[in-house]
Amino acid sequence: MMRTTGIALLLAAQLLGLGDLAASPAATDSLASFQEAARKAKVRFELPSWETTTGQIEATTQAAMATGNQRLDAIAALKPDQTTFANTVAALDAAYYPVVLASGRLDLIHETSPDKALRDAAHEASRKLQTWFVDSSFRRDVYQAVKAYADTKPTLQGEDAMLLKTVLRDYRRNGMELPEAQRSKLQALKNRLNDLGLEFRRNITQSDTLVEYSREELDGVSEDFLANEEILGKDGRYRVNANVTWQVLEVLRNARSEETRKRLVIARSNRAREKNIPLFAEMLKIRAQIATLLGYDNWADYRIEPKMAKNAKTARKFLLDLSEGLAPKFKAELATFRELKIRETGNAEAVIHTWDVPYYRNQLKKRRYNIDTAALKVYFELENTLQGMFGIFEELFGIRIQPVEPPYKWVDDLRLYAVTDSASGAPLGFIYMDMFPREGKYNHFAQFGITPGKRLSGGSYQRPVVALVCNFPPPANGKPSLLTFDDVETLFHEFGHALHSVLTQANYMEFSGTSVPRDFVEAPSQMLENWVRDKKVLDRFAVDYRDGKQHIPTATLEQMEAARLATIGTHYRRQIAFGLLDLAIHMTTDEKVFDDFVSETNRIMSETYLPVPEGTAFVASFGHLGGGYDAGYYGYAWADAISADMASVFRKAPGGLMDLPTGMRLRNEIYAVGGSREIEDSIRAFLGRERSLEPFFEFIGLKKKP
Ligand SMILES: [Zn+2]
Repeated sequence: MMRTTGIALLLAAQLLGLGDLAASPAATDSLASFQEAARKAKVRFELPSWETTTGQIEATTQAAMATGNQRLDAIAALKPDQTTFANTVAALDAAYYPVVLASGRLDLIHETSPDKALRDAAHEASRKLQTWFVDSSFRRDVYQAVKAYADTKPTLQGEDAMLLKTVLRDYRRNGMELPEAQRSKLQALKNRLNDLGLEFRRNITQSDTLVEYSREELDGVSEDFLANEEILGKDGRYRVNANVTWQVLEVLRNARSEETRKRLVIARSNRAREKNIPLFAEMLKIRAQIATLLGYDNWADYRIEPKMAKNAKTARKFLLDLSEGLAPKFKAELATFRELKIRETGNAEAVIHTWDVPYYRNQLKKRRYNIDTAALKVYFELENTLQGMFGIFEELFGIRIQPVEPPYKWVDDLRLYAVTDSASGAPLGFIYMDMFPREGKYNHFAQFGITPGKRLSGGSYQRPVVALVCNFPPPANGKPSLLTFDDVETLFHEFGHALHSVLTQANYMEFSGTSVPRDFVEAPSQMLENWVRDKKVLDRFAVDYRDGKQHIPTATLEQMEAARLATIGTHYRRQIAFGLLDLAIHMTTDEKVFDDFVSETNRIMSETYLPVPEGTAFVASFGHLGGGYDAGYYGYAWADAISADMASVFRKAPGGLMDLPTGMRLRNEIYAVGGSREIEDSIRAFLGRERSLEPFFEFIGLKKKP
């Protein structure tokens, strides 16, 4: 997962003076030791100054918006004949930059501060800044200055040309080319849509649904789970919250009783339905109106235009081809699940339902492939795993990752790493790591952008700062922190996002780091998960912490790979179903579909995956559709396909996954470039050929392209 500041219209610039970053706190010796290298490399390598009181948060918010407004006013004040690239198009990036910096810090404070008052204040402030971004993107006076410059038909090259194109495209998508009356209508519709989207997601967050069970009904579920005080009530009954993913997964994967699993799936599929069904119907109608106003056939075409797929038809065709190619494998996997079910229940007529899949997938893993997830943890002691991963990325990308003492820590065990170029010593970026769970902290694992990279007005480069917010199991009972295999995969994935951010060389914030099309952004990170499945890579660091010698047996890794392939058809058919139904309701302007979107989405899910329980409405709690991933769910599979394609280049290289020239090419052609050129060009430059779907079909166990 990756979190960046969500901004409707992010534009970019070079007029940035000093004072965008408040002066860093007094640096420690080790931090200071990088400053000579920073001067030599003409980069600014510094940490943000963190707000520690609600007063500071308020002051930061006001100051950031004031600076942003001043800079936008300066652009707006230009007479048409005064406009240049630097004082319009590029100046926009400088205008937005201080607000993005403030927003990055406040967002992280909101998710990680141990102080609730600070978290709340930061949340409130973030919302103010979001509103500021939206309002600013609708400023007509600023647009007119940019337009006056664009009308001179300038000849631009490379990243500058890309920036002008992007800025004009985003203005057009914001309705700036429409007559006044339609423009204000559009703005009103967009504001209403934003509000509804927030409400849609809030309704899901608040849709806790307790399903009550006896101990017998939860037979098969782990003792730890049953003893958890969130689950076991004082009355001796067990209550599972259908709105809490880890609780749902534990029960669906392990509860032997079909009735138990079925009740939970039905409860989960009915979350938020009363409020969200009418609300989402209104959202669909507004989206269609916006698309029509802007001259698109439908919302999906509008949403997909800036992405790799370019239009809804291409995205849909990708999913349909994949779905068809997977059909035989999907059928075979369901047949295997059914065999297991017949054997377990003694019912020769047994059928596989949607609530059976997680359970029999788990059974298959345990019984056929003898995979004991818990036993693997001894190979992944946290510190050793981190060092191992750093070593791999240092070698592969020609960098050094050094721990430094953070001058300010919001929590005692906060870590900070300085990333430098190993050949030149030039500083590249900072990565914070907030390691362990605690009350009030963001409870997944994600990379947060704090300072995006950007070339400043004097020519020096502001190097990026990011944070990895992790929730590793804390060391306990004299035992070190041990990671699961999934944790390690996630660590490599998220660290990939961090590298994508800190290795950037893009001149404009608009294009730096992970500012790439949404249907591509997961690919470079997704790809790094392959490293964790490779015996040679694992043997570099993964040893049993108790003897420091024993490696993961080859047979175990082979079994894990076999297990992955054994159920991947089911996994992707479900993903494809989500992608297709998301597109279906956004590829039309037919109000009848909007009024009856529950049957439409249920129908597609039932046809592509497995029949949904009758009378349910899972789509009412499908948070992705509330905003951000609407008409974008296809992007997960799309990025997976590119990830497999890119990984295949390493596999074919002489050094395999540790092939250094290929690693450097990834750094230079993908990470460093970011969004500063067409992503297709970057991918081609890395691959050394056109894109291909073949490696993905191989990755999911299909012999050849369907
Ligand atoms: Zn991710």
